[in-house]
Amino acid sequence: MSQKFIGAHVSAAGGVENAPLNAHNIGASAFALFTKSQRQWAAKPLTEKSIDLFKERCAKFGFAPEQILPHDSYLINLGHPEVEALEKSRNAFIDEIERCRQLGLDRLNFHPGSHLRTLSEEACITRIAESINIALDRTEGVIAVIENTAGQGSNLGWKFEQIAAMIEQVSDKSRVGVCIDTCHTFAAGYDLRTKEACEQTFAEFERIVGFQYLKGMHLNDSKGAFGSKKDRHHSLGAGEIGWECFRYIMQDNRFDGVPMVLETIDDTLWPDEIQTLHRLAAEAR
Ligand SMILES: [Zn+2]
Ligand SMILES: [Zn+2]
Repeated sequence: MSQKFIGAHVSAAGGVENAPLNAHNIGASAFALFTKSQRQWAAKPLTEKSIDLFKERCAKFGFAPEQILPHDSYLINLGHPEVEALEKSRNAFIDEIERCRQLGLDRLNFHPGSHLRTLSEEACITRIAESINIALDRTEGVIAVIENTAGQGSNLGWKFEQIAAMIEQVSDKSRVGVCIDTCHTFAAGYDLRTKEACEQTFAEFERIVGFQYLKGMHLNDSKGAFGSKKDRHHSLGAGEIGWECFRYIMQDNRFDGVPMVLETIDDTLWPDEIQTLHRLAAEAR
């Protein structure tokens, strides 16, 4: 039987312990969450009570670590051109890894970084890899999961080659992974609109990066046009990508066993989107 873990990036308002509950309530078998406010640098440490309740609810509702994909703060830029800002990002990233470990989680999803038109692409990639190496050195048990980007602004990681170059410079390959966001992939110029296009795009991913690094998926349709470099999510089937891509992913066993989470714009549709994805997965059996 294929094992597809499907869910959404749910709210952790009121405490991280609410995330597994929110995920359970929409029929999810996977979820993403922020372990702290995603738009602030400072965060109070997780309380013992919060941690215990999070673990208790994950056990109760059947969420193992490989079904959960925490996401780091949007403020962090591990490729920042300025020393002070880079240091701040690196420290915040280490803190986020530590929070994941406290929650018993095994991976942390992050956007690789931006050169801010100051560093060359190559230098920024090296800086990002250095940041990952430093963070992995100072922590344990958590995989750093690089998310592919739409290539908006000066964000790196939109080309598979850039992600491969980051991984190549990470010392501990057992603790680095990749999250593919379908909206970002499409906006970056990898077609996903037909079965043939998906076959080609994921063959390219396999050739350049490799499915052994896949640790999560973000399932989003795209408001932005093909190759637009715009990071604008849409509900599944409502955007420029369409259902064929999500059918393909649901019916391909290379996507088994990793958390696949919706970041689609209308959260009232999440229960339906999850159900439809499960139905598509079941068609393949
Ligand atoms: Zn995403
Ligand atoms: Zn996005």
